Amino acid sequence: MSMIGKKMQAAVVQALKQPFQILTVDVPTPKAKEVLIKIKASGCCHTDLHAIEGDWPIPPKMPLTPGHEGAGIVEAVGSEVIGLKVGDRVGVPWLHVACGNCEFCNQGWETLCLRQKNTGYGVDGCFREYTVAPASHVVKLPPNLSFEQAAPLLCAGVTSYKGIKETECRPGQFIAIVGAAGGLGHMAIQYSKAMGLRPIAIDVGAHKGQYCKSIGAEHFIDATSLTAVEEMNKYTGGGAHGVLSLASSVSAFELLTKICRRKGFIVCCGLPPGSLSTPIFDLVLKRITIRGSIVGTRQDLVEALDFGALGKVKCTVQTKKLTEINDIFDQMKKGKIEGRMVIKMDE
Ligand code: NAD
Ligand code: ZN
Ligand code: ZN
Repeated sequence: MSMIGKKMQAAVVQALKQPFQILTVDVPTPKAKEVLIKIKASGCCHTDLHAIEGDWPIPPKMPLTPGHEGAGIVEAVGSEVIGLKVGDRVGVPWLHVACGNCEFCNQGWETLCLRQKNTGYGVDGCFREYTVAPASHVVKLPPNLSFEQAAPLLCAGVTSYKGIKETECRPGQFIAIVGAAGGLGHMAIQYSKAMGLRPIAIDVGAHKGQYCKSIGAEHFIDATSLTAVEEMNKYTGGGAHGVLSLASSVSAFELLTKICRRKGFIVCCGLPPGSLSTPIFDLVLKRITIRGSIVGTRQDLVEALDFGALGKVKCTVQTKKLTEINDIFDQMKKGKIEGRMVIKMDE
């Protein structure tokens, strides 16, 4: 099917800190190893907000269509595509492509590839009716997962799932989830519970406690409470074995070493601009390990989607239209979203 000359709607920012414009643009043509995907649902990640605000050291391409939680249907395939066909239900994640042939790719650490490209950052993403992506890094969606449910798993799901694995927590141990009511956090509560851990949710404002508990948190602590650290250490008898940092603000990082158990692991996924200031004394005497974690490999993604297909994790999804995109990001800035906002494309 030729899409040449066909038009579509796309959300575009022209420059950093500018609002989205909904523009009519050409439908892209897939290259030989790419597929063209008709997007059905597209999750809105806080990373998209960091991108358009210019929060990170390496700026995104401009103009930019963000979005890296794109779920849809293969509409056309390039001449050299193997393993995917028109009509397949697929997802487009942050890891747009990796080189497949470097020190890190060869070790199964494609997320660290220096030659990787990122969807909705270095290349245009999924806040549009159609997108193109390399067939090698597009993931097939389990048949019983709706597009709206699958979309948040493509970043929030896989990132929190991988981050939990990186805490090296074992069943029965406590995991503190900082930023627990957000897109990543609400998934982390559910993955950690499904993995046999005891999730303690931490977020800003007591009102988020009810929500976190309703999706499986064993206990909730308000990060703004003066007694947060004391409460945590009392409840867990000495701190959490794993601390998963998913918050979008740098102030959250002050808590991390204070609530981490001796011999524990702190895994940082949240990416606010700034530096992590850590009391050296605590780090050394408590033998704490701090580790970064970035999304997950294609295999992590398959595993993360399986939890969804088995009904072990369920995203809290609020759907909106593409034309409401500025409103979505306003709400995200204010920290008002519980779970994930997902843009549902018009039929
Ligand atoms: P979100 O806006 O949905 O959620 C962030 C949550 O953090 C909110 O519930 C907010 O209330 C909470 N929070 C803010 N300040 C806090 C504090 N001081 N203490 C406790 N909680 C606090 O964002 P999201 O989409 O879940 O993304 C979270 C962060 O993770 C962003 O910085 C994003 O860029 C990053 N991220 C990283 C990766 C990765 O691979 N490492 C992948 C996706 C997202
Ligand atoms: Zn993301
Ligand atoms: Zn590589």
